[in-house]
Amino acid sequence: MSTLETPVSRRLSSVKNVIVVISGKGGVGKSSSTVQLALSLLATSPNVRVGLLDIDLTGPSLPRMLGLDSRAVHQSSSGWVPVYADQERRLGCMSIGFLLQDRGDSVVWRGPKKDGMIRQFLAEVRWGDLDYLVIDTPPGTSDEHISLLTHLHPLFLPSPSRPPSHFSPTPTSILISTPQATALNDTLKSLSFTRKLNLPVLGFVENMSGYACPCCGEISEVFSKGGGEKMAREEKVGYLGRVPIDTKLVELLDEVVKGNIPVGDDVETRVGQVSIGNE
Ligand code: ADP
Repeated sequence: MSTLETPVSRRLSSVKNVIVVISGKGGVGKSSSTVQLALSLLATSPNVRVGLLDIDLTGPSLPRMLGLDSRAVHQSSSGWVPVYADQERRLGCMSIGFLLQDRGDSVVWRGPKKDGMIRQFLAEVRWGDLDYLVIDTPPGTSDEHISLLTHLHPLFLPSPSRPPSHFSPTPTSILISTPQATALNDTLKSLSFTRKLNLPVLGFVENMSGYACPCCGEISEVFSKGGGEKMAREEKVGYLGRVPIDTKLVELLDEVVKGNIPVGDDVETRVGQVSIGNE
């Protein structure tokens, strides 16, 4: 059977790893976790290059979280140039937020138009060589997820007649949830979605689990503890760790948004300090 080469697979042939960040619910810290994951990956080595793609078309938040709200995407002869957060061009970002004339504009699109935009993001952004492409998705499991996975890897959607994808790195995913039962329940739906589409899951992060005291850093339990670990164990998915509610995180993100801290070495370290980690 011949392999299927597509504009997306051609464009992403210089990307080593693709990580799709998924949550069952909004407001659980998916986008914050996506940004922290990208910054943590950057901090692993000075040579690592990371791309951040925001396919949350109706609620893009990565430009704001990276303090890049006022920036615009440029078109070059070889494609869209991502907006870089640092001078060394190690962290590039692409989001519909950069394309809207007015940042307050809303996007009211039906499925086919969203699908076209996602295909364009995957096929036309000039990322260059990337160690990681981290993709922030809308909450739940929506048209955007299906478009993303179909374009990334045509084999995700089962079809006996479909030839194997030319795209070499198999995309993987990380699930983000808060510890509350309703959020965990929605995470099970996301998990079922990944299984239906054969999308491997790297693991699950329990965000806003406990409260970190701003004075001493001690973690107190706000909601019941252990539900996330139990779910991960029962579902046989990796438990990547818990991140407490940390007011420093919100303060640091606010400072980035206001432009008081450039996203560079300093923030990599500072945001990295409150970043994903096992207990
Ligand atoms: P989502 O992408 O799931 O909708 P966000 O990442 O936008 O969620 O987070 C929602 C809000 O919660 C943001 O204001 C963010 O700063 C805050 N937040 C996320 N994680 C934490 C955390 N661990 N501690 C404190 N605030 C957090």
